[in-house]
Amino acid sequence: MSSLLDKLLHFAIGLGVGVLFWAGLERYHRAAARVINPLVFLFMVVWGASGLFLFRQLGIPLLSHTAFYMAIPDWDLPLYKLTRLRFLIHRSWPFHSVLIPLLLLGLWLWLSRRPGLNRWQRAGLSTLRDGAIGLSVGMSAHLIWDALLSSTRRGFYIHGFSRGTSLLWLLINLTLGLGVPLVIARALSRTGPVSSGE
Ligand SMILES: [Zn+2]
Repeated sequence: MSSLLDKLLHFAIGLGVGVLFWAGLERYHRAAARVINPLVFLFMVVWGASGLFLFRQLGIPLLSHTAFYMAIPDWDLPLYKLTRLRFLIHRSWPFHSVLIPLLLLGLWLWLSRRPGLNRWQRAGLSTLRDGAIGLSVGMSAHLIWDALLSSTRRGFYIHGFSRGTSLLWLLINLTLGLGVPLVIARALSRTGPVSSGE
């Protein structure tokens, strides 16, 4: 499979999972769908699933930088080249997991409990939360396509893990990657502003 087709499929699966997740919000946690910024969510879904790969050749400052055009799960490729740390060999556990978005959500939870936040700080924290939720859904979608694609070859492996552990890793990360954002959405729809007329 060409790398462009692979990226397009990562993009398509990312969009598909993102749309399904959002439809779930609209159906079951409507108030959360009114609170979460859909643009921040979508941007981070794409970044986590496929990266902004179309920008690669365009030479736009920042957007054509490796870190942007590359999906965040694939950041282990340049990082390994740079550092030669063995745990960063591609399909590494820190990047082929939902560890990064969950850490960001943990940071959001910790910061948002601080008293005396001003308007701008609260707005910044909402962006952090919505971005981390999008990234969690996007990286889950990336894992789904990695697993589907590689199952046609030699099976899905996380670098350094056995086949069984890799599949368990996949299952745990998909559960957390889609489940934690849903739990947060549920909490938001209880505490968030009540939408008018419903
Ligand atoms: Zn991957």
